[in-house]
Amino acid sequence: MQFSVPATRHDLAREAVVTGFAGQLVGIPVLVSVLIEHDRPVRWWYLGIAIGLVVTSVGILTAVIATRPPADYSSISPHLSIVLTTLPLVGLCFVQLASPHADLYVPVIVLGALYLSLIGDRGMRTTSALIGIALVAGCAWASHDRGATLATTVLVGGSAVVAVAWMASHATRSIILSLGSDEDRARLSSALAGTESLTGGLQAALPLVTGVLATDRVVVAGRGPAGDPVHCVAWWEHTGGVETLVLEPDEGEDVPELADPRLHAAFDSGDVVIDGHRCIIPIGYDGNRSLALVLDHAATIENPAALRAASDVLATSFLRHNARVAFVAGLRHESRTDALTGLANRRTLGERLGFELARAGRSASPLAVAMVDLDHFKAYNDTHGHVAGDTVLRTIGALLASHVRGQDLAARYGGEEFCLLLPDTGARGASALLDALRAAATAATDGAVTLSAGVAVWDGAEDGHALVARADAALYRAKEAGRDRVAIHQAAIEP
Ligand code: GH3
Ligand code: MG
Ligand code: MG
Repeated sequence: MQFSVPATRHDLAREAVVTGFAGQLVGIPVLVSVLIEHDRPVRWWYLGIAIGLVVTSVGILTAVIATRPPADYSSISPHLSIVLTTLPLVGLCFVQLASPHADLYVPVIVLGALYLSLIGDRGMRTTSALIGIALVAGCAWASHDRGATLATTVLVGGSAVVAVAWMASHATRSIILSLGSDEDRARLSSALAGTESLTGGLQAALPLVTGVLATDRVVVAGRGPAGDPVHCVAWWEHTGGVETLVLEPDEGEDVPELADPRLHAAFDSGDVVIDGHRCIIPIGYDGNRSLALVLDHAATIENPAALRAASDVLATSFLRHNARVAFVAGLRHESRTDALTGLANRRTLGERLGFELARAGRSASPLAVAMVDLDHFKAYNDTHGHVAGDTVLRTIGALLASHVRGQDLAARYGGEEFCLLLPDTGARGASALLDALRAAATAATDGAVTLSAGVAVWDGAEDGHALVARADAALYRAKEAGRDRVAIHQAAIEP
């Protein structure tokens, strides 16, 4: 059996049903044994009350189970849960009173009350202490204690019951809390480790947050660079047995947590803010916005140290994940980008070429490839130096990037050579674009640098290498023809 603190209404209700069953399992045999042992003196009034209590409890339990499927136990009110768990125990107290010489039942009642105080919330703890006190008083009365003797017994015995229940519940709760969170923490970490994106992480981990810090609802708040309003990145909710997870909700959605002024304090300081049951836990950055979890601790248990520890676990887990996501995204970007110009590199070009060929094949649309080469660039370097040459390469790179459309790709092929992938573009469109580029390059470098280009349009059958080779052949023709011009390679078979 796995220990867990019944912190949410759902857990509480489930524990109540289980405890109700346990109570019947003990209460009914005890009752039966008292009834069949005729030689013992039985006080029938007390026994009648005991039978009434146990029967009522069995009735409620049967009605609850008959009218709801287990998944719907969370709709049971906590008050009904307390009634369900305490009725059999109070019944047992009356059995004890009915048969005062059968001290056999006292340990069962004490254990039951202790169990209630361990599993339950504050209401259950209070109820179990009251049962203990009533039991002490009842037993003293049944033993004919009266007046000062009765008062002393109730005072001493009652205090002892309250102290023992409180100490036991406090000590055990800490142990159970740490036991539970170890497993839940591991579950949360492995969910976060299995994903390389922020949204993937939130999707996998938000439903597990409640295992570490009991809650019915978690909101992920985001705040952009200074002055931006706080917005909702995601929220998760568990109500009425139904879980809901929403990522990047619509702007109009009402998320009351976002109005909490303490959010800004958490964002500004980067520290966890705990105020009453509200926890605001900064969890790092996504792009240029900072993120924080906002949740209300649903447990009725008030243990500030455990709350702080659980918040720290959440902060560490999500921060580590977000840092890893940012690191991996950075590596991925670097591995696909040319460091000097910021354009796509050969690797990206190769991948996109395969993708665009497949797409052009499916949609029967044209695909143009252009190879671009700076003219006499060696001479430019020799005259102005390599640093000036690098500046020109960056300028040309920026021109290429700004002239192509969103669906096009501009890549640095190597050295002073560039390659353009132009989907949905034929020879005429490509050559018009390259003429515009030539003019822009000449203007940007005051005529110091010109460029030549070769264009090929996919013939519908060749592979990427053959297509690029034809664009390259056209480029050489442009060079041979005097540079600063565009040449088009005519395919043997046009698509
Ligand atoms: P052509 O018109 O025939 O293309 O003549 P070219 O001088 O441009 O061609 P060549 O292949 O002889 O020389 C290419 C030059 O490009 C050589 C090198 O100095 C320069 N280059 C290649 N990569 C870089 C770079 O990253 N930075 C700088 N500054 N120059 C580079
Ligand atoms: Mg070259
Ligand atoms: Mg060149």
